[in-house]
Amino acid sequence: MTKFFEVQKRDGPARMGKLLLERQIDTPALITSNDYTSLGSVYGYSSLDKTRQTVEALRGQNKLTIGPYIPTALHNEPAIKLPQMEYEGTKGIVVNPFSEDLPEIADVYVLGKAGTLRNPKDLVKAVIGVRNRTHADTALYAPALATPANLALLVYLGIDLLDTTRVVADGLLGRYHTRDGIRNFCELSELLCRCENCQKMAIERKDKKLLIAHNIQKLEEELLSVREQIRSETIREYIERQVRVTPDQTVALRLLDQEHQYLEKRTPQHRRSTFFANCAESLKRAEVTRFADRVINRYKAPKSDVLLLLPCSARKPYSTSRSHRLFTEAIGSHRRYLHELILTSPLALVPRELEECYPAASYDVPVTGHWDREERAWLLKCLDSYLEKNKYARIVAHLEGELEDAIKEHGIEAVYTGGGTNGPSLGRLSAAVAEACHGATRVPDLRRLRYQAMADYYFGQGAGDALMAGNVLVRGREIQDENKRPLAAITPNGTLALSVAGAKRLKVLNAYIVTIGDFLPKGSLLAPGVIDADEQIRPGDEVIIMGEKAFGIGRAKMSGWEMVESRRGVAAELRHIKEM
Ligand SMILES: [Zn+2]
Repeated sequence: MTKFFEVQKRDGPARMGKLLLERQIDTPALITSNDYTSLGSVYGYSSLDKTRQTVEALRGQNKLTIGPYIPTALHNEPAIKLPQMEYEGTKGIVVNPFSEDLPEIADVYVLGKAGTLRNPKDLVKAVIGVRNRTHADTALYAPALATPANLALLVYLGIDLLDTTRVVADGLLGRYHTRDGIRNFCELSELLCRCENCQKMAIERKDKKLLIAHNIQKLEEELLSVREQIRSETIREYIERQVRVTPDQTVALRLLDQEHQYLEKRTPQHRRSTFFANCAESLKRAEVTRFADRVINRYKAPKSDVLLLLPCSARKPYSTSRSHRLFTEAIGSHRRYLHELILTSPLALVPRELEECYPAASYDVPVTGHWDREERAWLLKCLDSYLEKNKYARIVAHLEGELEDAIKEHGIEAVYTGGGTNGPSLGRLSAAVAEACHGATRVPDLRRLRYQAMADYYFGQGAGDALMAGNVLVRGREIQDENKRPLAAITPNGTLALSVAGAKRLKVLNAYIVTIGDFLPKGSLLAPGVIDADEQIRPGDEVIIMGEKAFGIGRAKMSGWEMVESRRGVAAELRHIKEM
């Protein structure tokens, strides 16, 4: 609830924004003592009145004012509670990392004792705790914590403001920082950087000022990298690489991944970047669990007697790959009598109709043919839930190697063809499918099924039926009602864009709706105009906008809960809006 801070871009819990002080600070940022006045420990004043007078004397300044605080041991509650004080400008409040109390309303929260949060468990718990207890549109400052090696993790956890305190102090102690960690300057036989300071140090060595300047420069460079990663929506991939620097950072990421709700609430529906599933942590990503959850719980497979299990392909969407084109050819006209399910890591199951959805159409994973225990367990768990819900009379598995073994050993009753794309393999696929489809009922047209499935996937159970009710025509990438009015279109990034007529069909589901006040928005819908928003909405979601004077469609720029909490920022970009 602030006038002074606005989040402009999000990638998971990491955010970019602007803090409006004397200078505009683009976050994530390194701030200096020139940007704020800190009143320090309350024990530094002779009385509470004196403290209050000091706060009042600061009125009119254009800096962040960090209010007085009560020094407390890390895991303890403060001994006394301070009364609220009136601030004129940007208000900063020091919060106890492990307090259960809701802190008073402020623009910036300062993580108390942040510098001592070296234990990954404490760090993750503290940041998540404070973020959960404060509003979305407030900034979080963690003093004396950042190094070039950990800065990305800190920003990814949800911290907006950091400083150079720690690298300066380390410089005085002869510690040389790089993105790869800290080294003892005296023990380096060669400097690891070519910055101006290092070039000077290579000649005259031992100047603490140069060492500090180098450390600050490395921190600033890392900040630039992190900002670019958020901008290009690749921060998660960057984090998965960067945490390998120390076991403690890897632990922090794993602990963060256990905070599923914290991440899920902040993970966009869609990212521009390719999703790299490079390591074990990728399997835990919110995008992966969300995709699997939607396939199991939102999606409804078409009635089909035959299920065909296929492997994934490097090229996405799978249909455009050479192997899948060969499979389709081998299946031939039997395709109308079966349903295709692609088995893959880390997404587990991708029904053919959902292959264009994010991240199914844009992920990449190192393929060795080996399925490790965790991948295998995840795949089988998803497959069990899927087959529990969607019943088939016969299954054909055109899979090879360890993937075939995994399914076979799990006891899935199927015709196993051994997989493959050479002539004899495709012959076996063709024969198995012909046999299985004998006497099978016809499955609806795949082009129709795509819209049906994508509507369920993006808008929840029942959306497909609502959107496709009556005589709906498929015209290429668009569907139309019986009067040839467009209802929805599949966009190049695999989302479903609704028309006003399409949105009207879906509004009965009461999902993905943003309720606005008594006005007609234009261009962008700003957060203060939002009265209520569906909790399920994530950045990138298609949303239905409803108000007394307006009905329309837009793309969410923030999560539903953020729209309700925020007093600044764009909630959604509007596409069609009609006056009521
Ligand atoms: Zn250097």
